[in-house]
Amino acid sequence: METRKPHRKKEDYKLRTHLIHGNFESKKWDYDHHVVPPVSHTTAYRLSSLERGARGFVQFASADEALSGHIPIYIYDRLDEPTRSMLEENLAYAEDGEICVTFATGMASISAALGTALRHGQEIVAHKILYGCTYSLITNWLPRFGVQARFANFLQPESLAAEITPATRVLYFETPINPTMELVDIAAIRRVADQANAGREEKDRVLVIVDNTFATPYCQRPLLLGADIVVESLTKALGGFGTDTGGAVIASKEWYNLLMLFRKDFGGVLSPGAAWDVLVYGLPTLATRMTNMQKTAQRVADFLRQHPKVAGVSYPGIADFPQKELAKQQMVNPDGKFAPGSMLYFVLKGGNSKQTRAEKMVDYLAEHAYSITLAVSLGQIKTLIEHPFSMTHSALPDDQKRAFGMHPEGVRLSIGLEDWHDIIRDLELALEKV
Ligand SMILES: *Cc1c(COP(=O)(O)O)cnc(C)c1O
Repeated sequence: METRKPHRKKEDYKLRTHLIHGNFESKKWDYDHHVVPPVSHTTAYRLSSLERGARGFVQFASADEALSGHIPIYIYDRLDEPTRSMLEENLAYAEDGEICVTFATGMASISAALGTALRHGQEIVAHKILYGCTYSLITNWLPRFGVQARFANFLQPESLAAEITPATRVLYFETPINPTMELVDIAAIRRVADQANAGREEKDRVLVIVDNTFATPYCQRPLLLGADIVVESLTKALGGFGTDTGGAVIASKEWYNLLMLFRKDFGGVLSPGAAWDVLVYGLPTLATRMTNMQKTAQRVADFLRQHPKVAGVSYPGIADFPQKELAKQQMVNPDGKFAPGSMLYFVLKGGNSKQTRAEKMVDYLAEHAYSITLAVSLGQIKTLIEHPFSMTHSALPDDQKRAFGMHPEGVRLSIGLEDWHDIIRDLELALEKV
């Protein structure tokens, strides 16, 4: 490999630049003469000797090897593979973690993080509002493996200490919370975990696990605020174009071995093609997309806020966001600038008819709007709208939804890259009709 001789350290460049170029030299593959890294499609690798094969099996799940600067010995796709590995280097860098292990979906990554952190007899304490499938994983599947789930209000960290028992191993939450956009104070949860950990053995230490899907590492880096492990879906804003599913776990290197072994045996690997899309399109455009979408989200939030049919808007960027101080500390881009993200939630004033105004508005937009699409998922270049009460969060009991700020008149918007005038005009026309 003919190496470049950089005149500045990679850390001296901005994250936006780094996400476009990756490492100066990948330890995963010699692609020094490609402008775009190659995508590798092979399930098995030729081994030049038995000794090389044996060495590969020993080394594949070792973080020391992965971080060593040697090109790994690849054996079989499900163990490890270069396109995925290059993506993992970049994601670890973006999240300020030592290592990253990718998975086939966000849910596969959450399963892996919980599957490696928790053992039989331990318990997870999670915030009461969670992504639906995470809630199902914790309540329907973990108990089969002897792991119990309990729920608490993470918006009040001071009350959380009382929920921790000797069996508690994981504190789990998402921030911003879907769909209400309230924020959990990551540093405050860290302090609760630290108190609980005084006197605990390393293997029983309470771990803080954060789902960073909504914010992405461009707007928030939970590991720097005290999280032990970050999980995220690559299907959403990290992938960015809505073409592939994927997930990632980012942590310190002590987790690498177990995560790699879990992935090998449970088998939820990210396909090289999907990894390549995130590596070549998703990450390199993340900063630009987020900057742009965030500007539009701010404009849309300000428009909605002064509309007579809107009762309230929840977006960390608006002037009267109730957790403004926390938002400014926690949601910052890698240059330290406030980065409230591309997701917003608003509640309409109730109408007179049986159908809520929110349902009517979403239906009207689904039929008549060009710049806004009715769909689940989020973080894409297309603006997506949905009605959480009847769609993404319909599985939760009505009173529980209401108790946590979810309203039948609530609407979730994931802002895309369309011209902001068009998004606002489409919303304005829909609001006239309902
Ligand atoms: C979508 C999503 C997930 C799951 O990701 P998949 O890639 O769909 O498996 C997890 N957490 C949050 C917050 C999400 O929005």
